[in-house]
Amino acid sequence: MSRIVVAGAGPVGLTAALALARQGVAVTVLEAGDELAAESRASTFHPPTLEMLAELGVVDALLARGLIAPTFAYRDRAGHVATLDLSVLAQDTPYPYRVQCEQSKLTPILRAEVEAAGGVIRFGWPVAGVDQVADGVVVRAADGRTERGGWLIAADGAHSAVRRSLGVAFAGITYPERFLVASTDEDLPGLLDHLAEVNYVFDPVDWSVLLRTPDHWRVLLPTPDGTPDRDELDRLDGRLRQVADPGRPWQVAHASIYRVHQRVAERFQVGRVLLAGDAAHVNNPLGGLGMNSGIHDAMAYTRALVTGDGAVRLATTQRRRIALEYVQTVSHQNYQRLTATDPVARAAYLDEIRAIAADPVRARAHLLRACMIASLRPVPA
Ligand SMILES: Cc1cc2nc3c(=O)[nH]c(=O)nc-3n(C[C@H](O)[C@H](O)[C@H](O)COP(=O)(O)OP(=O)(O)OC[C@H]3O[C@@H](n4cnc5c(N)ncnc54)[C@H](O)[C@@H]3O)c2cc1C
Repeated sequence: MSRIVVAGAGPVGLTAALALARQGVAVTVLEAGDELAAESRASTFHPPTLEMLAELGVVDALLARGLIAPTFAYRDRAGHVATLDLSVLAQDTPYPYRVQCEQSKLTPILRAEVEAAGGVIRFGWPVAGVDQVADGVVVRAADGRTERGGWLIAADGAHSAVRRSLGVAFAGITYPERFLVASTDEDLPGLLDHLAEVNYVFDPVDWSVLLRTPDHWRVLLPTPDGTPDRDELDRLDGRLRQVADPGRPWQVAHASIYRVHQRVAERFQVGRVLLAGDAAHVNNPLGGLGMNSGIHDAMAYTRALVTGDGAVRLATTQRRRIALEYVQTVSHQNYQRLTATDPVARAAYLDEIRAIAADPVRARAHLLRACMIASLRPVPA
């Protein structure tokens, strides 16, 4: 099979590159930046993603840098509501837990393996567009450089230059609030009871997510759109002290504010170009589905590419259906439940969660969906 070009050396592009290299396919990754992105963004790896990283021979390196999270918890402003234990998935996966680890720790692992397997990664190579030719693609940079390949996997992120250059629509919504993520050195378990490594705090106004990464605790809070970032950062300490009060200002290592969208590209395949990861679909971070589903795209496409054109068409169609029916639906449901304004509906949902947590059969059914296993394969009762 002729060389495959990948645009973008994020977690999705590098997973695709490694999967191809492992199957003996020549691969070149074109990355706009001069280095791998250092931004931490995604921090949750779900069981099926761990299975895929195991298939590529990199899961042990990720586990060595990450934290195993055997549970996650639901809370409201009054305190702990319920804890869900992923060990009920032991019959469904060799990895019945989530791993908490920043995506910026995965990408160097993948990069080293891609290069060791003979893959080429070119930095400082911003893809501007692509021409389809008889037997493949010619990928273009704005400065006139070109790279030829049999196929292009476009994993160049949410603002994908490839998707735009092909005129593929990216329909969906933008949430009315922005999401602020603060990384802190505070010892949150010393301040709040019953914390798991990941905690969803239900509230119509001050909902939040508290999660642990190997380096920090992170607090995700809603932030109005249209206010200056400076004002939001100035009032951050007061807001954090509503989450938990150490009796002095919180130690915040850094904070970022994100505008958040739910969008899916109208097509994932245009000729010999395949859109993957954020280039194909974006969603809110509640539930940790974005990077995980992008890694699933990369694995599905690369398996199909070595099989044949029909398999590629099927894979792109299936991945788009999963993006719409599963990733968009579950992430938006998570948002609606976390932010529900009707106190009766919220209390009813939290009661249901308590009942699910107390019943291993219901907990397994809930977790098969929350942990993405049900998006990928039929699950026995
Ligand atoms: C606060 C936050 C928390 C999140 N938490 C989670 C989580 O816990 N779990 C989860 O699954 N997801 C999470 N996500 C989503 C996750 O970060 C993204 O889905 C993931 O980064 C997508 O990976 P990607 O490789 O498709 O794109 P990116 O990570 O954006 O990588 C794209 C790469 O392409 C490069 N690039 C861009 N343009 C070009 C070009 N023209 N030519 C060549 N290269 C280019 C970029 O420099 C970059 O290296 C979170 C997102 C945010 C904002």
